[in-house]
Amino acid sequence: MITLEGITKKFGDFTALDRINLKIEDKEFMALLGPSGSGKSTLLYTIAGIYRPTAGRIYFDDRDVTEIPPKDRNVGLVFQNWALYPHMKVFKNIAFPLELKKAPKGEIEKKVREVSKMLHIERLLDRYPWQLSGGQQQRVAIARALVKEPDVLLLDEPLSNLDALLRLEVRAELKRLQKELGITAVYVTHDQAEALAMADRIAIIKEGKILQVGDPDEVYYKPAYKFVAGFLGSPP
Ligand code: ATP
Ligand code: MG
Repeated sequence: MITLEGITKKFGDFTALDRINLKIEDKEFMALLGPSGSGKSTLLYTIAGIYRPTAGRIYFDDRDVTEIPPKDRNVGLVFQNWALYPHMKVFKNIAFPLELKKAPKGEIEKKVREVSKMLHIERLLDRYPWQLSGGQQQRVAIARALVKEPDVLLLDEPLSNLDALLRLEVRAELKRLQKELGITAVYVTHDQAEALAMADRIAIIKEGKILQVGDPDEVYYKPAYKFVAGFLGSPP
């Protein structure tokens, strides 16, 4: 379980996150949904350890990770504009996190094959990123995040570069893998339909505050604020 306790993040005088409290259960798919500039990415980077909160604590189970650097948190990251390494073939791109950890060569080979199979990119391992479509690149990025077998997968609008059809396809794959592998996912999006379709629960964020947390039905049919109703397009 991930526990956020009173997380505040300031950039100078500006408060990007304002006393956020949130619990994310093991194996849960949690969407962080809110308009542009509401603090979604800032919250995700804080969970990843890329940002240190100005105040508040973060726990992974009982372990206080507030001061722990990203590489020691066992999280996988997939960001919208996190390019693949252009000079490395797909195999090498996916293998990279394991090579950093100095995993044995045989193990690297095995894990890269496994994860590539899951994402249907086995046939692309010998190509360079520029020889792939956008959707294929995105799948490679997801494979690279999964290869370390992270407890937690943090995704920041990972599908927003894809066309509508491909988006649906990769969305379904991602969701299936997350459930199959039993990974906890925190998924940032400003796309209401995506959050409603994918998430077990949705946290609605506005101006650095969480307005409401609930399962899709709950937030859609019982919005706690006018803003939530308007943003989700809830029936009157
Ligand atoms: P979007 O949907 O557009 O990606 P977001 O909800 O992810 O938006 P954030 O990127 O978290 O929003 O930004 C929240 C607020 O914090 C914005 O007003 C942004 O300008 C500000 N902000 C984010 N990062 C920094 C930074 N490093 N320095 C100063 N201000 C920042
Ligand atoms: Mg963002």
